Amino acid sequence: MTMTLPALTSLLTAATALTLVANRARKWLSTLDVIAPAPTSAATPMPKATTIPAASPRRRKANLPDTTCEGCGTPIPGNETLCPLCARKQAAAKGAGWTTLWHWLFTIAVLTVLYGGAYLLTP
Ligand SMILES: [Zn+2]
Repeated sequence: MTMTLPALTSLLTAATALTLVANRARKWLSTLDVIAPAPTSAATPMPKATTIPAASPRRRKANLPDTTCEGCGTPIPGNETLCPLCARKQAAAKGAGWTTLWHWLFTIAVLTVLYGGAYLLTP
């Protein structure tokens, strides 16, 4: 049996797809365990109720949103003016999309020259 490159490629693709399906099925099964836990016997002792200590007033006050974002109106802490999402949008470079476009066009041009030249030079 000879192993050609297309056969090897399709084999690797099939193995990758099977791995993805298996991972997804395992995640799905783990969620089923959370929803429907295994039945427990009557002899199992119930856990004691625990009291959750109240958060300190200083920490609770720091977590309260008391102002809104200037960009989108999301409630945020008072010592900030922008939410993290709007701050990241503002910090992004203005011409980032064009830079990516030029990189893609340059890559396509280089690959066209390489593969086209190789195709033309092949006897
Ligand atoms: Zn915002």
